[in-house]
Amino acid sequence: MKLGMNQGTTLENSSLERDLHLLEKYGYDYIEIRSIDKLKEYLQTHTINDLIEFFQTHHVKPLSLNALVYFNNRTEEEYKALLEEYKEMLEYAKVLNIDRIVVVPLVSEKKIVRSVIKKSCVEVLTELSDLAKPYGVKLALEFIGHPHATVNTLSFANEIVAEVNRENVGIVFDTFQFYAMNSTLEDLKNTDFSKVFLFHINDVEDFNPGIMLDEDRVYPGDGVIDLHNILTIIKEKRFTEHASIELFRPEYYQLDAEEVVRTAKEKTFKVLEQFFSVEEKK
Ligand code: ZN
Repeated sequence: MKLGMNQGTTLENSSLERDLHLLEKYGYDYIEIRSIDKLKEYLQTHTINDLIEFFQTHHVKPLSLNALVYFNNRTEEEYKALLEEYKEMLEYAKVLNIDRIVVVPLVSEKKIVRSVIKKSCVEVLTELSDLAKPYGVKLALEFIGHPHATVNTLSFANEIVAEVNRENVGIVFDTFQFYAMNSTLEDLKNTDFSKVFLFHINDVEDFNPGIMLDEDRVYPGDGVIDLHNILTIIKEKRFTEHASIELFRPEYYQLDAEEVVRTAKEKTFKVLEQFFSVEEKK
């Protein structure tokens, strides 16, 4: 099992340049790059060639680009802008040799019936799939465990991806998103793991599902998510690719990013090594 970190983890106390340095130092295998802000910020003082060269000369590799946000149930005008952003992401993916992009469903207080959500998700993902194909890019739909997210359970995400039925369209399985809207272990057992393109690992404080937020995430093992049974199922499913730590905790943003990167690795290793072989790299 390889180890990654999503840049959300150090969103407010680091930069892409520093994340790369720290992840390399602490023996991570992957970084999930935030194209929406951290890559843009990096390119103010670097060129894309600097980044390409970094990956050519270091152990850390890019795992995904994050994220195409609110892709479904948009107005025509919004959708046009979304496609422009998406095409730019595809070009970055190409030069950086990244083969997966995270796509995030609409979060809105407007009530939309599920059939309308599903129809839009399937249509948009099919079009995005066509556009991604020549780039060799896969799309990972991340269900968001919040009442206002249009796709907020594992089972609904699985249903949509099955309907799209494209080789390059799958899901993100994120333990927080899973727990936050009462997705079940049964749903996880019913998940087609050939469609799990990204695995985000984290934990959460003991709030009731439905009210918890990204900021309530804590290091794996420090919260109430049943990581033991989740990892048991993941192992049974023979998913051994990677686990990528993704936190958004304001208290951790107050710390030095190095401390967060180091602690995240230690705590995640402790959880993972009960199930998988995780290689200690120096
Ligand atoms: Zn996630």
